[in-house]
Amino acid sequence: MISSAISIPLQPVHVARDQHPISRKDISPNALRVLYRLREGGYASYLVGGAVRDLLVGGNPKDYDVATDATPEQVKQLFRNCRLIGRRFRLAHVVYGREIIEVATFRANSDDGSGDRELEDGRLVRDNVYGTIEDDAVRRDFTANALYYTVEDFSVRDFVGGFEDVQNRVLRLIGDPETRYREDPVRMLRAVRLAAKLGFSIAPSAAEPIPRLAPLLDGAASARLFDECLKMFLTGHAERSFLGLEAHGLLPALFPQATQALARAGEATRAMVLAALENTDHRVAEERPVTPAFLLAALLWPAYSEEVEALLAQGLDPAVAQQRAADRVIVQQAQRVTLPRRFSLAMEEIWLLQARFGQRQRKRVFRLLAHPRFRAAYDFLELRAIQNPALLPEVAFWREAQIVPAEQLAEKLAPVRKGNKAAVQPDAPPVGDGATLASVKKRRRRRRPHPAGNPET
Ligand code: ATP
Ligand code: MG
Repeated sequence: MISSAISIPLQPVHVARDQHPISRKDISPNALRVLYRLREGGYASYLVGGAVRDLLVGGNPKDYDVATDATPEQVKQLFRNCRLIGRRFRLAHVVYGREIIEVATFRANSDDGSGDRELEDGRLVRDNVYGTIEDDAVRRDFTANALYYTVEDFSVRDFVGGFEDVQNRVLRLIGDPETRYREDPVRMLRAVRLAAKLGFSIAPSAAEPIPRLAPLLDGAASARLFDECLKMFLTGHAERSFLGLEAHGLLPALFPQATQALARAGEATRAMVLAALENTDHRVAEERPVTPAFLLAALLWPAYSEEVEALLAQGLDPAVAQQRAADRVIVQQAQRVTLPRRFSLAMEEIWLLQARFGQRQRKRVFRLLAHPRFRAAYDFLELRAIQNPALLPEVAFWREAQIVPAEQLAEKLAPVRKGNKAAVQPDAPPVGDGATLASVKKRRRRRRPHPAGNPET
């Protein structure tokens, strides 16, 4: 076991109430309840972490963390609505309806010889020791994340120079940057994510090691990387996160195949990916729903397109090439970042449906319009038109097809030629309403099932 106690000079500062902008009216009433109850119980209690940082810059914290010197069991005794979670390091969750206030006992980062803190190759694998508030501060990642707000005198307590860094809007690691990244490489992603979220800069000392140490992310748990991706890409700052990942050499660590394909694909493809990110940010700003599937479909599209091209060059049938390319890209990507099946399936459907936008035969058009993934696939087609303006007529056709009455659309379209086997898609869902579609349904019922893998185009 290697010891890596962080020894940094502590300069405890009390920032008095009149020196900072945090007002109780901006804090969740439930978080305040927890702070006061702990205090009345005779314990130290502080709001800490992202909430204090966000409040200092006028933001709206999405969750509240409380730090205390009470043990989890002691916390549980104070709150009826409290449950303890975690096996190794226990945390108390105080539950108010849908809001959970997380209460953690001050934790130390130093090795006390008990074996409760372990490093493997410099990487933190267990982190289990209770400590003082100073210990708790220095084990955190950035100085801006290590500020403590107390209802005792409404001051902010700062042991690591975080208050000044927040004023200067800079993210600075506590302690030696390289050591802290080696302990937990995900901190590199957090630096980029928080800089994107808050509009902070990354201190040169914290930015410098990132491109060098980026390969350490290979060893990070893929589920954790997926969580970080969600926070980076689905909370309103996707474009800035992407540009940050790129600028700091972290993109290949998350999307190895896609990064290479993107570099080879040229500016138009990059513009498409950026448009997808921007699009997602707009939707978040408008509080419309967003799904990782759509964004991942865009990020990985250059890799998918390359695979399709390579397989077509080997002489594969287009439908087979598309299916195989999708499978390959997904399998490769999932080795790095967990891809829950519901998202990878949706992503694959978005890709495979692209090949069906060229069709103009009546039944096929109606089938595609009725596909549950049609809307996402159509939005994706619009994106692709940024990359390839030759698709604009297709975009126009399908935009209109969604608005005009079914009868009118049916009249304009050619019926499927007799004897054209591929005309009816075996995997397509039943078509929706409309008199012109009744015959489609009737024939579908009579049909025997097609063998699996029937080409779609
Ligand atoms: P946000 O909630 O906006 O994503 P946050 O800073 O609150 O940002 P959380 O993951 O909620 O991020 O973590 C809460 C706090 O826990 C952080 O502010 C930081 O003090 C500490 N922390 C989180 N992750 C790490 C880490 N990898 N290393 C050290 N400290 C961490
Ligand atoms: Mg948080």
